[in-house]
Amino acid sequence: MSVVTLDSSLPFAPYRELGNEVLRERIAEAKRKLGSSLLILGHHYQQDEVIAHADLTGDSYQLSKLAADSQDCRYIVFCGVHFMAETADILANRPEKLESRGGERVTVVLPDMAAGCSMADMAAIRQVESAWEQLGEVIDTEDLTPVTYINSAASLKAFCGRHGGIVCTSSNAKAVLEWSFRQRRRVFFFPDQHLGRNTSLKMGITNDLMPVWDPHEDELGGNTEEAIQGSRVILWKGHCSVHQMFQAVHVHQFREKIPGIKILVHPECPQEVNDIADISGSTSKIIETVRSAPSGTKWAIGTELHLVNRLKKEHPEQEIHFLSPLVCMCATMYRIDLAHLCWSLENILNGSIVNRIVVKEDIARWSLVALERMLTVR
Ligand code: SF4
Repeated sequence: MSVVTLDSSLPFAPYRELGNEVLRERIAEAKRKLGSSLLILGHHYQQDEVIAHADLTGDSYQLSKLAADSQDCRYIVFCGVHFMAETADILANRPEKLESRGGERVTVVLPDMAAGCSMADMAAIRQVESAWEQLGEVIDTEDLTPVTYINSAASLKAFCGRHGGIVCTSSNAKAVLEWSFRQRRRVFFFPDQHLGRNTSLKMGITNDLMPVWDPHEDELGGNTEEAIQGSRVILWKGHCSVHQMFQAVHVHQFREKIPGIKILVHPECPQEVNDIADISGSTSKIIETVRSAPSGTKWAIGTELHLVNRLKKEHPEQEIHFLSPLVCMCATMYRIDLAHLCWSLENILNGSIVNRIVVKEDIARWSLVALERMLTVR
């Protein structure tokens, strides 16, 4: 990752003083001037006023892939979080794409560098490498497939690429685990314990075969040798701070209050919620499930607040509730606002790129290996 701040770059502070109407006009003007060379990507969890300017909306992988496949695009402004912009850089600048553009790179910008992901930050590459080394002392790591959720730093994806491993999304986690078990006996799953556990449980793997690796414990992630040797899936002790907040009690409360309500949750939610929900699925599955439901269906949805509120607006024919009484929103993604979007676009126009995301060549190459393995999984 590198931040390029040239002398000619426009300072951010004045943008804070601008009203939303002015910002909207200036963003529209910058978009008009940059034309098809620019793609603004808006993640489903992004706030509405930013989504209004997005050329494409979707989940992180869909967005990166769509942008990478565009012929004209030379600038991607990713209104998401850091790992998403890294994935966009890797896919948009992979060797065959670079060759088709005569070596010209697509520039990827994250409007606010503080837009990170608490889950991705729970697994640092040094910790994963240390865990792998320790695991090698009690089991054969040749028989262990590392699997990283796409919500992770590029260095972790590269680790998986180097060690015969693979990337998964919340849509294909089961298929990826099945692929992994066809290669090797065990899986090391990071950084989200809940997606790893909920998916494995559906495959019949019980909790006693899934020790949790705590990177802050000195010895074997807080496990005994026997627990590691008897494992099928070793789960990293990481979670999404947004989805972790949904609880089984919220499900019971809704069922008592609104008979017939259906509970629809994301697999990043804890097991206690996933086990009793009516439907558990990725962001795309949640959206599709609501879209295709008959009018009058009642839902309590356990995923990021902005997405649930947008579904409410788009589907007035259904009764949609947010599953938690708390405000579960992705606070880091929320850092990307109109001021940051306008600032990053006007800097592109000014020829002084700010907040550019560039994944190092070696890391990008090995990440791509793990991402491409994922694409072969059906
Ligand atoms: S919702 Fe959770 S996993 Fe997604 S970007 Fe935010 S913190 Fe990360």
